[in-house]
Amino acid sequence: MRIAAILVAAGSGSRFGADTPKQFLTLAGQPVIRHAAQALAAHVTHLQPVGDAAAIDAALAGIGHLPTVPGGATRQDSVRAGLEALAPHAPDIVLVHDAARPFIPPGTIPALIEALRHHPGAIPAQPVADTLKQARDGVIARTVPRDGLFRAQTPQAFRFDALLAAHRAGIQGATDDASLLEAAGESVAIVPGAEDNIKLTYPEDLARLERAMTARMIPRVGTGFDVHALVPGRPLMLCGIAVPHDKGLAGHSDADVGIHALCDAIYGALAEGDIGRHFPPSEAAWKDADSARFLRHAAGRIAARGGAARRKASVRRQKSCGMIRPSAGLLKPRRI
Ligand code: C5P
Repeated sequence: MRIAAILVAAGSGSRFGADTPKQFLTLAGQPVIRHAAQALAAHVTHLQPVGDAAAIDAALAGIGHLPTVPGGATRQDSVRAGLEALAPHAPDIVLVHDAARPFIPPGTIPALIEALRHHPGAIPAQPVADTLKQARDGVIARTVPRDGLFRAQTPQAFRFDALLAAHRAGIQGATDDASLLEAAGESVAIVPGAEDNIKLTYPEDLARLERAMTARMIPRVGTGFDVHALVPGRPLMLCGIAVPHDKGLAGHSDADVGIHALCDAIYGALAEGDIGRHFPPSEAAWKDADSARFLRHAAGRIAARGGAARRKASVRRQKSCGMIRPSAGLLKPRRI
């Protein structure tokens, strides 16, 4: 079965009020849209992003997807653009998801796909818990019975042909896709939504999402140290900075002990050995190498393992560089 997903990311995020559209802001170490794409990618055969190609392709680097197509003036127009781009691939099922919703609970997509066995559409939704008031000019006009009312979320799932036909029918003003199927008289099932499936809309949502997403991550901590001898005739590199000095650190690479200690801390936290395992001093390729490339590799390993370095890492990095006080009698120098 071919399952496609449209990831709509063409909104400007005017309610959020940041210079960068909200779907490209950093959350738990990576762009909001990347979290959404990763959650979808595990379930689909085709991922169709919609929006600014340069920004989306940069944010989704390494995640396989179809060529990004431009969005439209409204969300509905953007979804339509994604559907038309997918049509030649003839998927059986399409999921439509807001790039501004980074957290899709693990059970949501399987529940949606199961519901499509009996209905042409299915959406996750949460029952309304609060009492609802309709107001005019700050005064309540009436209380709206909340029985049977739900808050709709995404991803919303549809049999592809049914959603494409509903979009091509020309109805305007839909704020979600289910409403187009409803207008066509088709049945749309509800599966349980989740409070953590938050659509990033206002700045305070970012902190709520950060809490929800990091609560599911396991904190891992590593420590690293490194020792090299000071010798004449070498540049002194510390934490990527060339320090003016009459001596430098001996080593196979640029011998930047600060960066090497940080790499070892990261590899240690990931239980992936130490820097010597990834960049053996016996290999000519690392002769006089800029240690920044080792750090980029270590950071890449965090991402590859599904981790995220917290923003405070830069502070920790400075601290870990400042905390290296090895006792030369106890520690054996390495020459990486
Ligand atoms: O604005 P709102 O939060 O309702 O947007 C929901 C999703 O639809 C966001 O991911 C946004 O980028 C996307 N969108 C779009 N094209 C538009 C408007 C919104 O792709 N014209």
